[in-house]
Amino acid sequence: MTEPRLSTDELRQLYRELILDHARQPRHFGALGNATHSAEGFNPLCGDKLRLYLRVSGDSEIADASFEGSGCAISVASASLLTDTVIGMSSEQALELTDALVCRLTGGRSAQSNAREPELGRLRALEGVREFPARVKCATLAWHALRSAVANDKSIASTE
Ligand code: ZN
Repeated sequence: MTEPRLSTDELRQLYRELILDHARQPRHFGALGNATHSAEGFNPLCGDKLRLYLRVSGDSEIADASFEGSGCAISVASASLLTDTVIGMSSEQALELTDALVCRLTGGRSAQSNAREPELGRLRALEGVREFPARVKCATLAWHALRSAVANDKSIASTE
């Protein structure tokens, strides 16, 4: 199944709307009391700082997710979209999605280029950030933190 192609203008429009919406009203914002996993992310380039919380159930499903911290609109919106998206996924699915998204945003090739690539859905709107290379790390920060959180890595996930 292929995703509908979006024109550059449509992608731009979607990007603006989604970033503004999620930056103004971040979803799942705040610490998660019963988190099983968490990780901190820092983007020194912009000063974005966040902590991501996950509650992973016994069968490795992400039952809940939240984040807190402060940063620019793009970093907050991306973290908000992340939490909204990964709840209900297995950790493995969330990591596959992370790989696919980070590759799209950084222009790299997916590690699993011949395998099935997960559908990005509305996360594709984040691709709009590619027009602003200096902000790509703002958009990927939360996803780096997600990788660390799933791995239960206590070091701070840095975009550098
Ligand atoms: Zn930023």
